[in-house]
Amino acid sequence: MFVVMKKDSGKEELSNVTQRVKEFGLATQLAHGTERTVVAVLGTTTALPDLRESLELMPGVEEVVPITKPYKLSSREFQPENTVVKIGDISIGGNEVVVMAGPCAVENEEQIISTAQAVKAAGAVILRGGAFKPSTSPYHFRGLGEEGLRMLAQAREKVGILIITEVLSAKDVELVARYTDIVQIGTRNMQNFALLDEAGDLRKPVMLKRGMSATIQEWLLAAEYILSRGNHQLMLCERGIRTFETYTRNTMDISAIPAIHHLSHLPIIADPSHGTGKWHLVTPLSLAAVAAGADGLIIEVHPTPDTALKDGAQSLNFDNFKRLMAKLAPVAEATGRKIASPLGRCPEFVHER
Ligand code: PEP
Ligand code: MN
Repeated sequence: MFVVMKKDSGKEELSNVTQRVKEFGLATQLAHGTERTVVAVLGTTTALPDLRESLELMPGVEEVVPITKPYKLSSREFQPENTVVKIGDISIGGNEVVVMAGPCAVENEEQIISTAQAVKAAGAVILRGGAFKPSTSPYHFRGLGEEGLRMLAQAREKVGILIITEVLSAKDVELVARYTDIVQIGTRNMQNFALLDEAGDLRKPVMLKRGMSATIQEWLLAAEYILSRGNHQLMLCERGIRTFETYTRNTMDISAIPAIHHLSHLPIIADPSHGTGKWHLVTPLSLAAVAAGADGLIIEVHPTPDTALKDGAQSLNFDNFKRLMAKLAPVAEATGRKIASPLGRCPEFVHER
């Protein structure tokens, strides 16, 4: 349940409320909105009706609202205002659409640096690239590991662009977080709860992809693992789900974008590369995602998609990425936003570790 505090309530009344919740063996988290402060009561107890009654009588309490949905901290009821994740002077979840682009996997220095330069020149503000790659087959390329992280960091310094990269296991969270600006959790790990706990202990941005067979509720509950440990710099990513269709690699669930905005305050990024698996579908689905309100895109771009070690079939070459960026601007404008521009942003990129 949520405890909505009165507008004119003070610190002491708030602290009495959180203290009372603690006495019942439960935890709290606060949302300080522009209008009101809300206290989320986290955990379960059979004494919930007694706690509710007691809270309702406390000074400073406007109302106590029972929450029927299983997810709480990620819900709009708890926090009506959008979460805006800030990295340097880039804001994700505000009125700029943020484009992240780069290869599926970091392959070598020349590949990642030339891609960083090309995607930045075309208007991307964040470079993507996997160093630890989840692979359906153990015989396929599984990434360069820490060597790949070093190359990404090198590209960031040299080109002046932020980076996002995936972490595959709880034991590597600290290592990956040391190098990257945004920690990516992939579809196959959406319900790796040990990994989610570690990501929740970080104090840096995390992007949580939707499990390929996860419902929106399961996805928000996974987000809840991260939020409930105090990491609020969280964004979600729709990357396509499994359906009966085999023409596309996944079915890009565009409806998830406005659905997430309706249910949650968290920013939502769209990944039409994994969402379709086909490079020629990436541009139309990117436009559709931004039209549906996506706060950003993550796009696979490779200097030579035909020789890519991973996901070449869904990767745009530099020219096609440039064309996509040109088409995106009017769609963002039609939704009252603009595409975040990398111009003038370097060297303000402050990398906080
Ligand atoms: C990726 O972005 O490189 C990736 C592996 O994506 P997903 O987890 O969505 O398959
Ligand atoms: Mn990929």
